[in-house]
This record gives sequence, C-alpha cells and structure tokens, in this order.
Amino acid sequence: MMRLIYAALLLCPMLSAQVPSVRWESQHAEVLKLYRDLIQIDTSSPPGNETRAVEYLQKVFAAEGIPTKTFAVDPARANLVARIKGNGRKRPILLMAHTDVVSVQREKWPVDPFGAVIKDGYVWGRGSNDDKDKLAANLMIMLLLKRSGVQLDRDVIFLAESGEEGDSQFGAKFMADQHFDEINAEFALTETGRAVIRNGEVAIVEIETAEKVPHPVHLVATGVSGHASRPRVDNAVVHLAGAVAKLAAWQTPMRLNDTTRTYFEKLATVSSAEDAARYNGLSRADRTAAAQQYLAVNDPFRYSMLRTSVVPTIIKAGYRTNVIPSEAEATIDVRALPDEDMPKFFAEMKRIINDPAVKFEETDFGARPTTTPSRLDSEMYLALERSAKRLYPRATVMPLMGTGATDMAFLRAKGVQCYGIGPATTEQDYVNFGAHSDVERLPESSLYSLLEFTWNAVAEVALSNAAAGK
Ligand SMILES: [Zn+2]
Repeated sequence: MMRLIYAALLLCPMLSAQVPSVRWESQHAEVLKLYRDLIQIDTSSPPGNETRAVEYLQKVFAAEGIPTKTFAVDPARANLVARIKGNGRKRPILLMAHTDVVSVQREKWPVDPFGAVIKDGYVWGRGSNDDKDKLAANLMIMLLLKRSGVQLDRDVIFLAESGEEGDSQFGAKFMADQHFDEINAEFALTETGRAVIRNGEVAIVEIETAEKVPHPVHLVATGVSGHASRPRVDNAVVHLAGAVAKLAAWQTPMRLNDTTRTYFEKLATVSSAEDAARYNGLSRADRTAAAQQYLAVNDPFRYSMLRTSVVPTIIKAGYRTNVIPSEAEATIDVRALPDEDMPKFFAEMKRIINDPAVKFEETDFGARPTTTPSRLDSEMYLALERSAKRLYPRATVMPLMGTGATDMAFLRAKGVQCYGIGPATTEQDYVNFGAHSDVERLPESSLYSLLEFTWNAVAEVALSNAAAGK
C-alpha cells in the first residue's frame, strides 16, 4: 500500500527540465515533523550531544530500509552517514548539514527555544535556520529518493556532522581526515547560502562558492621593564601600538576572483542606481578608490570581499600604572583571499611593521586549509541556478564569497565542489531572527521551498538519463 502511494508521488515528467516533480503539498506534513522533531532534540554546543540527533536519524533511516553508519571521536558527538546507491557512472553528491546548535539565553525567548513552536507563520527554535532546516530537507530528499526507486547515475550521500559550531575536529575535519572515503563526492551542498525576500517574493538567491581563509598572527613586542617615572625608548607598549597602527592603516591590494566579480556584477543589477554605480565602479580605475572607501565605511562585509583583511582583535600589555612592562602582545585576525600567497603576504606585513622589537608569529588557531573557489560552470552550480529560477522566477542568482570560515573548507581542500545554500527570509528576519540570533525562527513556507530548491538540483544532477526520460 505504502509503495503504491509513494510511486504516485513521484515522477511526473516535467516539460522544462528532466526532473521528476513531486506533489509537494503532500510532503509538507512529513518534512515539517522531521524538522520539528530535530529542533526539539537539544544539541546545544557546548556540550553538543549530537548523538541524540544521530539516534533519531538512525530510526528514521532504519524505518525506510536505508543503512547508516556512524563515526565518532567522542561517543556523545557522533556523525552519521547514509547513502542511496546510484549506478556509479558519475561521482556522488554529498548532502551535508550539522546537528549541533549554538546555546541559548532562555530569558530572551518568547517561546521554548527547543519547542519548535509554530506561531505567526514561523517555526521558532534554536537551529530553525542553523542548521536543522537543511538537515530536515536533506533527510527528506533521501527518503524521497529511496521511496521513488529512481535510477541514479551517482550515489547521493547524507552526512549529519557534529561540531560545526567551533569544534570541527569532531565533525567535518574528522570526517575529511579520517573517513573521506565515506563522503567523497564530486559536489557537496550545505549551509551558508540564502534566498532574500523583498516585497513578498524572493529577489536574490546567494550560493556560497568560496570563502576567505583565516590566518591569525600574533605580535609580541619586547623591551626592558622599569619604573614608569623614567620613560624608555624601548617601551614594549609603544612599539606594539605602533605596529598595530601601521597594520590598521595599511590598505591591502584589492583583487576580485570569479565569484566576487560575478557577485558585484549581479548585485549591481538589483541595487539602487547609486549602489550599482559603486559596485560597477570597483573595477574601474577612475572610480575604484571612491567605491572602496565607501564600502570601508558603510559596508564592512562587502569591503572584506575585496581583499585580504588585517584586523587587530586582542591587545594585552601591562599590569600596573607605574610599571613599564617588558612584553606586549597583539592578535591580528588575517582573513586571506583564497588565492593569497601567504609567505609573500606575511613578508609584506613584516616590512610594514618594520620594527625589530616586534616579533611576528603565525598561529594555527582556527586554521583551515586554503581552498580554491568552487566552479560557477559546474553541473551542480548550473542546476542550482535553474532550480532557483524555477522556484523563484524573478530572482537574480549570484555566487558569494563568505568572509567567515566554514566546514566546506575541509571538503574543498579534497577537491569537492561545494555550494552553500539556504532558505528564504527577509533581510529583517535574517538579521533579527537568523543563525545565532537571540531568537531564531524561520517561515514555515521557507522550509518547503528549501526542500524543493534542493531537490530540483539534486534530482537534475543525480538522476540517470534513462530515469529522466532523456
Ligand atoms: Zn550552521
């Protein structure tokens, strides 16, 4: 009986693309339940306890006859992998989402943060945007693929990773380093993109195709300590402050890559005339200085997309008013463009500091591998573009370079083409109720559109030609 129902759900051939269409309304209740169940499992990190979510996923997969494997550094923080087999003609697609969520300040929530309460058209809860929406959508796609019995040209792999919120050694890094065979894929889809709702409809779809690479630096100035009533020319505080000021004043060279060039071009087409002139002006010799200056002051995120950024974040020196300390330290958060030549860049940093009293140390805090941006002409990127157009006809699709670090770095470093996608929200909701906000919520309808958006792309890229009726 179930089999008959599932067969009917799927595979009405579409005219435009050879993607089987699903009667989505009949899937909503199920994906909503998966989503709410996952939000209700408290996986706040610290401590994480992602194994609770893994146990839930195991049950769901087992009920469908989909085998799973788990991998754990810490038994409480397991990762889960499931795979729908294809005929192996092409390399797999990986659907990756993380099970951990950031912790909550309960007093800020108008509802139970782990209640998955539905109110005013939203599902409220920690993880509703980050990342249980992608987790539930990916899970539902696996179930739909299995039930449909369609032939795939490639495996579709599901990975529920732990530790994304600052503990990749339990999750993505561990899986990439120790169990890469289990998740090796040509393409990966995961978080970090989004669809922007303006005036009630999706106007922009951002797909993250690249990210900057953290390379924090530690500066240590040394001098002779002494009584502060006797000024010293080798005062460590003065030398350190000088070095930090020089770095802050240094404008590193601007350089666009495929992702950022395309991003600013497309962004200009959906911006006010003034903003568009600035975005287009970035690559014009006569206008670039003014455009960059405007972004430096008004738009730090987009300014950071233009260059390797050098940002002082910690300064430590001294302990008493009347003591000149012998040491002063600063941390500089360097976020490099993907193609930055780091030895050359660091040499330039030292030349700018130009002070033998200041020692320059590279650190590996938060280190991520350097990766090349994912392609904008791959089968998957083009399928995502088509899927977006189909679902949000008036939207402009643009690739994005994230300025923060993501777990995609571990996969890109192994040659996986990774694309960050996300649900549709208004700018206001994104800022006030998005990932890591005091209160997190997602429009219920955005869960459904995310599922459909992801499905269209996965089905187009994974289904075998025969199954697709080509
Ligand atoms: Zn996340």
